[in-house]
Amino acid sequence: MDNNEITRLYEEQLSEWDDFRLRVEQLQKVEWKTFDFGTFKIKAQFNPARAVSSNAKLDKASIAKRKCFLCSENRPDIQKGIKMNDRFTLLINPFPILLEHFTLPLNQHKEQEIKPYIRDFLDFAQMMTSHTLLYNGPQCGASAPDHIHFQAVKRGQIPFEEDYKTVARKRILGDDESHADELLEFGRKCILVESASKEKMETMFHLLYNQYQIGEEEPKWNLFVLFEEGIWHLFLFLRKTHRPTQFFAEGDDYMMISPGAIDIAGVFVLPRKEDFDRINKEIIKDVLQQVSL
Ligand SMILES: [Zn+2]
Repeated sequence: MDNNEITRLYEEQLSEWDDFRLRVEQLQKVEWKTFDFGTFKIKAQFNPARAVSSNAKLDKASIAKRKCFLCSENRPDIQKGIKMNDRFTLLINPFPILLEHFTLPLNQHKEQEIKPYIRDFLDFAQMMTSHTLLYNGPQCGASAPDHIHFQAVKRGQIPFEEDYKTVARKRILGDDESHADELLEFGRKCILVESASKEKMETMFHLLYNQYQIGEEEPKWNLFVLFEEGIWHLFLFLRKTHRPTQFFAEGDDYMMISPGAIDIAGVFVLPRKEDFDRINKEIIKDVLQQVSL
């Protein structure tokens, strides 16, 4: 598996799968706005195709009622995959938010949790150097909290990929070579774990997992990982809640904002025109504060 195979899968699916190609063409035409907060940027995307996902009922009963779209027996015949390792498969995401948007499900129907799969996550970042890998916690935006999966999107589309390089940091653990730092003046709580050693990455990850764990459940978070010049950069966006008060408001105060990993990392996905027209720095700041730890 290399970057060429990934490109080939994507190109083949684009040419064979008409509905998918149509959605990618729509995505290339969506409207964007960029908000500059000085130390970081947030982009907003007007994307009506995402209304279904933003409104999805994610409680256990609703999830149990629907057919799992990540299980191989329920996937459309036209959807092809690449074996990532013995456990995971790479698929194109038929409902993309960003260009070259992939889903990486486990080959078995097992619930969304990161702890047993952190090594896979780091491995995939190393294999997919043209892409950014991400993980949505089961209570923090995952649309299939019952089936463990990662996602990948083409690099260069989410502001945090550049923003993190210039923001101030506070060391939490480690030394200059292997460490975890909190990113400061970043608008939301984010811890960045960096090392050239996969073993050290895993050790630090488990330490932070234990530190932020609430009872038996996994910490509420969205994770991103980049592999650049031999170093892993693992971002832990720590969450307080999934959806902000605007999502539950009535009347004029209502906004369809349901932040998952991609939103918290810097791309607010807004399926309604009125929300896209209304979004501003104050609302973004408020939403980030509400949903971040
Ligand atoms: Zn499944």
